[in-house]
Formats: sequence, structure tokens, C-alpha cells
Amino acid sequence: MKYTKSQTDNDILHELKKRLDSEKSYEHVFSSMCTPPEEISRKIAAEFAEINLGDPGLFPKAVLLEKEVLDFFANLLHAPNSWTGTITSGGSESNLLGCWAARNWSRKIKGIKNGQILFPQSAHVSFEKAADLLDIEAKWLSLNEKNQVDIEQVKTSINKKTIGIVGIAGTTGTGACDDIKALSDIAIDQNLYLHVDAAFGGMIFPFLEEIGYTAPKFDFKLEGVNSITIDTHKIVGGLIPGGNIIFRSSEFSNTIAKTISYLSDSTTQQITVTGTRPGNVVISAWVLLKIYGRQFIVDRVKRSFEVTEYLISKLRENSNLQLAFQPTINIIGFKNNKISTKELVTKLKIKGWDLSIYSDWARIVVMPHVTKEMVDKISIDLEEILKE
Ligand code: PLP
Repeated sequence: MKYTKSQTDNDILHELKKRLDSEKSYEHVFSSMCTPPEEISRKIAAEFAEINLGDPGLFPKAVLLEKEVLDFFANLLHAPNSWTGTITSGGSESNLLGCWAARNWSRKIKGIKNGQILFPQSAHVSFEKAADLLDIEAKWLSLNEKNQVDIEQVKTSINKKTIGIVGIAGTTGTGACDDIKALSDIAIDQNLYLHVDAAFGGMIFPFLEEIGYTAPKFDFKLEGVNSITIDTHKIVGGLIPGGNIIFRSSEFSNTIAKTISYLSDSTTQQITVTGTRPGNVVISAWVLLKIYGRQFIVDRVKRSFEVTEYLISKLRENSNLQLAFQPTINIIGFKNNKISTKELVTKLKIKGWDLSIYSDWARIVVMPHVTKEMVDKISIDLEEILKE
């Protein structure tokens, strides 16, 4: 695209659409934990682009919407009345905030300066970043046959430097939910901080019973849980990126709170890493959660699970493919007995499909944009590639 002064905004938009067209569509995407935002979210993105929640004194009405969104999550996650929280730039920032609070709380309560946090090997890379940034020692623990953190290893790894544990409710690679009840019992027993990363599973597990599946326990009903990450740009289809963290109480969030003296409201404390924050992300989340409401989310989860079951049945029809693990949610891994996973994913890419590789399997996340038609088409291509 060449810039010329005579170009109108429409000309520029037209050029950009041409240039980015193939990236606007998710109709070949099986690898992402994001999904295209709802139509209303796109309109909100444009309409409310000027709102900055990092300056609450200027946008008090938008701040009220933010409170309502956080209230939705606090209710969903059965947080006690003492809860606090904030909207973040996504799962990574929320996980960083959880680890930051764990570190500072332990400094205050136990006098441990830079302790150790126990992480499952399945934890998202954001925890590696958090440990590095916060100068925390990361101890990576192995998984059991269900891809959950090994509880015995958690118990035997605790030493006098240990300040916290992280549990995952819906891992990136397999969708497994750690035994958060067991982690909560250990956290209470040993007076450790427990952060739960429910960035992905947080908008799935609370709705599973309504669609006939059993759901693991992972939220604040478990007394040892101190903070939970949960995202709106994943299953819900909010604007990208949108995350949240809810803390059990200000006892934990206050340890990272900062007052910003130069803003028009210099009394509000912030518990985010970011300063300036997009209001339109929050307004879009408010509409999806509060106006479209619970049934909208249940329907999205139900649809994704139906397509997941369909995909599993199609993969099972192909005798060259094997599931890499027993899926528990809408994340699938498969291997094949003809070529390497890397070669398979490359050949699928040539045919237009985007899949990712996790460990040694090809990984599919069945997001709301994945349809049975997409599954039919990729199944034909898989058949063809593995026949060669
Ligand atoms: N936690 C889990 C379990 C994830 O799967 C992801 C991303 O996929 C994250 C955290 C990070 O989220 P984000 O990409 O929004 O920073």
C-alpha cells in the first residue's frame, strides 16, 4: 500500500481490508483460544474508542459498568462479599497479578522475600514470565495420567521458601482441570497463597452441569483459593484482549495496589500492570454478560461441546489417527501413525488449516467459530494426507 495525500479514509480502509482480508476470517482456524468478537462488540469498539478506564475520574459511568462486569464474575465464581478485582489485558496479565500478590502477601505475612511458587508443568507460559519478572523461584511439577498436577509432588515439594501454589482450571494443552480442592486443602494447611488460572476453563466449567456434563470444582467455594484469572476474549467472544482477576479480599490485592497521583481522581488505587485501559473492551463484556446474559454463554459452550464430540467421532473414523489424551473439554490432541506431527500440521497448513502443536500432538481448540462443516472438510484433508 502506497501512501498518497489524495487518499480518503475509505480508500485506506479498502486497501487495509484487501491486505488483511485473510486474517479477518477464522474459518480455517483450529488453533486459537480466541474467536471473532460478536457483531455488537465490533460496534462498541468503534463507538466507545475514547474511553480510558485507566483514568477513572474522567469516565465514572464506564467505571460503573466495569464494576458490574466484575460483579458478574465474583458471583459466577462464588466469591465472598469481601472480593476485589480488576479488568486486565488478558490471562497473562491476570496471572502476573496473581503471582505478584502471592509474593507481596507472603513478604508481609511471613517475611519471605522472594520465595518459591509451585507450578504444574502444564501452566501457561505467562507464569514463566511472571516468575522471571518478580524474581520468584519457579518449581515445575509433573502431571499425573489425567494431565493434572501430581498432588503428592505438591506436598513433598513444599519447603520453607514456598509461598504459593498455582492450579490450572482448563490447561492450554489438554484442557485438564487440576484437583483444585486438593490444592486448596494444602494451601490452607500450609498457609500458602493459591492462585487459580481459569483463563480458559472459567467460562466453561460453571456452565457444564446445565448442558449435562459434570464440572470440576475450582472457585472461591474452596476456601484456600485466593485469586482467579478468567477471560472474556476466549469462549464469550468479547473484544480482544479482555481478562479479569478476582481476589478473595483486599487483604491480597492491597499488597499490589498503587495510587496514581497525577490523574483527575487521585484517590483511586489501581491493581493492574497497565495504566491506560480500553473502556470498549469492558463495555462489550458488559453487554455480552449482562444483556445477552447467561443463556448466551451456555449456548456457546453447548455448541462448542457438540462440535467437539463430532470432531472426536470423525477422528476415530480414521484408522491412522489416535487421540493423544481423553478430552475433558473442547481441546483435542491427536497423533498419527504415518508421519511426524510437525509434517502433518505443515501439510494441513498448505491446505489452508491452522492447527498448533503441543508436546508431540496436533492440537485443536473447538472454539465457537468451529463448525461441523469445518470438521467435515478437515477430515477429508486428513484422510487424503495420510493416504499418501
Ligand atoms: N492461561 C491459560 C490457561 C491460557 O490458555 C492462556 C492463553 O491461551 C493464558 C493464560 C494467557 O492468556 P492471554 O493470551 O489472554 O494473555
